[in-house]
Formats: sequence, C-alpha cells, structure tokens
Amino acid sequence: MPHSTPLITTIVIGIGLAFILGVIAQKLRVSPLVGYLLAGVIVGPGTPGFVADTALATELSEIGVILLMFGVGLHFSPKDLLAVKAIAIPGALGQIGLATAMGVGLAWGLGWSLGAGLVFGLALSVASTVVLLRALQERRLLETERGRIAIGWLVVEDLAMVLALVLLPTLAGLLRPDAAGEPVAALDSRALLMTIGLTLGKVTAFVVLMLVVGRRVIPWLLHYVAHTGNRELFRLAVLAVALGVAFGAATLFGVSFALGAFFAGMVLSGSDLSHRAAEESLPLRDAFAVLFFVAVGMLFDPMVLISHPLPVLATVFIILIGKSVVAYVIVRLFGHPRDTALTIAASLAQVGEFSFILAALGLSLGLLPREGQDLILAGAILSILANPFCFTLLDRFVARPKAEDTSNRVDPTPALVPTSLSNHVIVVGYGRVGSLVGEAFRRQNQPFLVMEDNPGRLEALKADGVEALPGNAASADVLGAANLQGASCLLVAIPNAFEAGQIVAQARKANPTLHIIARAHTDAEVTHLTELGASTVIMGEREIAKGMIAHLLATAPTQAAEAAPQPAPVAS
Ligand code: AMP
Repeated sequence: MPHSTPLITTIVIGIGLAFILGVIAQKLRVSPLVGYLLAGVIVGPGTPGFVADTALATELSEIGVILLMFGVGLHFSPKDLLAVKAIAIPGALGQIGLATAMGVGLAWGLGWSLGAGLVFGLALSVASTVVLLRALQERRLLETERGRIAIGWLVVEDLAMVLALVLLPTLAGLLRPDAAGEPVAALDSRALLMTIGLTLGKVTAFVVLMLVVGRRVIPWLLHYVAHTGNRELFRLAVLAVALGVAFGAATLFGVSFALGAFFAGMVLSGSDLSHRAAEESLPLRDAFAVLFFVAVGMLFDPMVLISHPLPVLATVFIILIGKSVVAYVIVRLFGHPRDTALTIAASLAQVGEFSFILAALGLSLGLLPREGQDLILAGAILSILANPFCFTLLDRFVARPKAEDTSNRVDPTPALVPTSLSNHVIVVGYGRVGSLVGEAFRRQNQPFLVMEDNPGRLEALKADGVEALPGNAASADVLGAANLQGASCLLVAIPNAFEAGQIVAQARKANPTLHIIARAHTDAEVTHLTELGASTVIMGEREIAKGMIAHLLATAPTQAAEAAPQPAPVAS
C-alpha cells in the first residue's frame, strides 16, 4: 500500500462525497450543484476534519473546463462566433467596465486602494465557464441564439481576462500606493504597450495557427484514427487533441486553457466526426466538471459570513443584481428580445475560476488585501449556489405566454402555449424515428402533437403546419402543456433512455391509463422504461436485426432459413 496518494485521495473523496451529497440535494429538490459545493466545503481547510489537497482539486477541475469548452467548440463554427460579435464584444466589455466600477465603488467604501478596487471589480466582472455551460446544457440552450450570444460573450470575457492577467504585474507598481499614498512606480508606457502588443500578438498567432493549420490537421488526424476502427484509439485521439491544444495554447501562446480547448473544438465543428468526438469526451467532462464545484467549495471559508456579513452581502449584490441589470440593459439596447436578455443576465450572474486566479494574483502582487480574496470566494460560492434559482426564476418568466410580446418572434425557443388538442397522439422527439411516425399520422389525418427541443426541427415543423411544443420534454412545464390527461397515446421517440424514463414516469403519474410507447436501445433500457410505466417498449437494435433477417429471407430464402437465428420477441 503506497504511503501518500494525495491525487487519488482528492479524486476519490471529491467525487465520492460530491456524489452522495448530490443525490441528497436532488432528493431535496435542489440542484445537485449545492451538494457538490457542500462536499468541497466539508473537505476544505475552512471546516474541521479531513482536509483534501486544494491545489490538486483546482488543477483537476481545469481538465473539466478544458473538456467543457472543447465540447462547446464542437458545436460552434467560426461563422457562429462572428455572427454574435456585434453584441458579444460591446456587451462583454461594457459589462466588465460597469461591474469593475461597482467593485471599485465597494472597495472605496471599505477603505481599500484603487489597485485593490480594480482587481476586486475585475474579479467580480467575469463569469465562470463551467457554471454557465452547465446551465445552458441543462436547459438545452447551447444551440439557440441566446446560448450562442452567451458563449460569444464568455469568449470575449476570457480574452479580456487573458489581457488583464498579463497587464496586472506590469501595472502593479503604479497601482500599489506606498506609505505616503503615492504610487511606488511611475507609468512605463513603453513596457505597457509592449506587453499589450505581445499578448495580443500571441493570441492572434494562436487563432491564425488553429484556423489555418489546425483546421486541416486535426480533422485529418481524427479521420485517420477513426478509419483504423479502433474505438479506444479514437477516444484517445479526441482527448489528446482537446488537452494537447489547450495545454499548448496556454504554455506557448499565453492563451487560457478554456480558449485553447474552445478553438480545438471549433476547428472540428464542420466535420462529421464532431458528434462522435463530443460523445467520447462526455463522461470525463462531466466527472471533472463536478470536481470544479468541489474545488470551489474547498476554497471557501464559512467564517467570512460571520466576520464580514455586510461586505459579503454587498459583493453578492454586485454579482447577482448589478451584473444582471447591466447585461439585461445592454442586450435590450441591442434590440434583442426580453427572453434573450433575461437568459444572458441569468447566465452571467455568477463568478468563478478567473476570479480566483485574479484574486490570487492580486494578493501576491500586494494589490488586494486578504479580506478582498475572502469576499471574492464567498461571492463566488454564494452566486454559484444562487445560479440554479436564477434559472428557475427565468423559466417562470420565459414560460409564461405573452400574447402581446411579439419581439419574441426572433427567438428560436418561443414561449409555451398549452395545446388545445384532445384525443391526440403525443410524439416526443422528431428526429429519425419521430418524423417517420409523424409522416404516417399526417397521411392518415391523425391529430398529433410534437415535443421537440431542436430549434431547427421546430422551425421545419412550424413551416409544415405541425403543432409542436418547444423545449425539453422531460421538464414538468413542457410536459404539462401537452394535455396528457386528454391524449390517446404517448410515443417517446428519443434515444436517451434516462430522459425518456423521466418523461414516462411523469406521464404515467399524470394519466394512469395512457398508452405509452417508448424507444430503447438495450435490454436494460427496456426493463427501466417498463418499470417506470411504459406500456410497450420497442428496442431499436432488435428491430434492425429482425429487418436484416427478413431481408435475408426474402432474397435468399433457403440459405437464410437454415442460417438465421430466431429473432428475440419484441418487448412489451
Ligand atoms: P433521433 O435520434 O434522430 O430520432 O432524434 C431524436 C430527436 O429527439 C432529436 O430531434 C432531438 O432534438 C429530440 N430530443 C431528444 N431529447 C429530447 C427531449 N428531452 N425533449 C425534446 N426533444 C428531444
């Protein structure tokens, strides 16, 4: 048995405790995030008992950031990024400016120097990648217009922070007052311009390299590995690309890990391999993202709530209210609908990883007092805790039908209007399976209602005059608008059995006699869905096998009859 295994201990305790507390949080109907953060607080140095390695946990969570941003890049083309630049650049810069000013104001009230105020304000102005992406993913907003604006905004924030991190050491002498209140160094404008020029030059070199060379080499490499047919090698290639590019970007070009990974994903976005690449990195991504929350919890010292209650409250106010109002106003000023503005405001009303880095740097440069770092950490954990509630509030606002609000038209996920259909069939998911079923219904003039969360598919359904409810069908609000009580049948035609299970369970509860037909891909999924209340479960792979055998029998009857195994019966 090895003596010291801090890395293994941190991973095991972090993931183990986060899992237990996440389950408890879920049971109590709060976001599992609360459980993860609490797990961190428990194993952190701020509370008695076992203390895990904070530095290791923080470093591990960076892998989560890399994989998350890589995944986002895979769904984002350079064209998408350019499409949102008109709002993302002024929006992010405006918000950073105003939030920093609020931070400076609070710092001034607390009697700190201007330098301390600037570091403090900057730290409060940047949102956490992990928190934002998780929230967007959970609500399937990543591929909507609002999601794209939020990500573009995040990318600009990341770039601004890369610049802030390199400029702070150069400016530290100027910003740090001596005993007489005078700056300890004069402004060296040449050094300052050199630093800005060099940083921007390196970022540009990285972006150009990725768009010119990476765009050819990375898809080629993945295609090559995919053709070897070795799944393990393909997985390894995806991870090597995501982690390697992020690491190279950070060490060679001074770009953040997150931006590096985003570009690695983006150069793959046009390639048909991107979906496979996204799937391969999913499990690791989720595990490491959980470690991010544990690490944040570990940094938090609960005593600050007792020793500095009012400054903590003011900090949280700036993050939750100040930043949201600024973001909302900016988005509205750019002519975007209210729902878009509300989503962006809720997405950015939190702070995370960059704030910790800025706070640590400010402290080491002698700019920020220790109290400032404590306030930033307290503000981070409290705003991350509040974030799921912000989104719940947002869902309430956005879900409410607003007959008078026509500005909503531009948004791809419009408000929910409960269906007026009855004795109808509900089709959940209008992809490869659902659309074929829907076609058949249309030929037979059978009234049906579609539930779909893909904006592109929703547009097409609208154009065809098919009634559809937008959003994740597993959400109670969306499902509640489908008139389950009056429906004749529910067809759950989505591939994810976990979500399908949530839909089946809720539908069964709402209507005990409803005929529910669900889609599955394994025997275990068939059992799962049947147990949750599905009347019939069709297993895709079994049907494919039956189709193949039937084809074989039709083309070479004698040969096939001898060779073919008996197909398994359809589960029901
Ligand atoms: P396919 O696997 O091609 O049949 O596509 C499944 C379809 O279901 C896609 O169009 C998805 O956008 C949609 N879908 C998947 N999960 C959900 C969900 N939870 N709520 C609504 N639509 C979904």
